[in-house]
Amino acid sequence: MATDTQDCIFCQIVAGKVPCFKIYEDERTLAFADINPVTEGHTLVIPKAHAENLLDITPGDLAAVHQTAQKIARAQLACLKATGVTVVQLSGEGANQVVMHYHVHLIPRDRTKDGLDKFEWESKPGNMRSIERIAGKIKDAL
Ligand SMILES: [Zn+2]
Repeated sequence: MATDTQDCIFCQIVAGKVPCFKIYEDERTLAFADINPVTEGHTLVIPKAHAENLLDITPGDLAAVHQTAQKIARAQLACLKATGVTVVQLSGEGANQVVMHYHVHLIPRDRTKDGLDKFEWESKPGNMRSIERIAGKIKDAL
């Protein structure tokens, strides 16, 4: 299900038709402030070329987005009261992707102070047989 780029809010931001708080831009990528910030400095990094999600972004744009994400994360840690960055990428409606243009969230964190717990989950040992079976299923699908 391809999104019509005319209706894509991020494509409109890339085209300058919708304003954003631009943080960084290069030939392939754009980074801008999320206007619904989870923490101070929450930034989105997108490819300029429309791609819906991890399944259809080109390898070159994928690499470029994550290289830009690294630059932004370093800057966030250098200038904000953060001791870490939560990197989130949601691909597909089942993962609660809302804007159907590939984007990476960079959320500056200080786990002891920001009061967030939504990016944490309990780590408990799984069923080894089940883990092995599912890993094999994914491996076979490659
Ligand atoms: Zn788009």
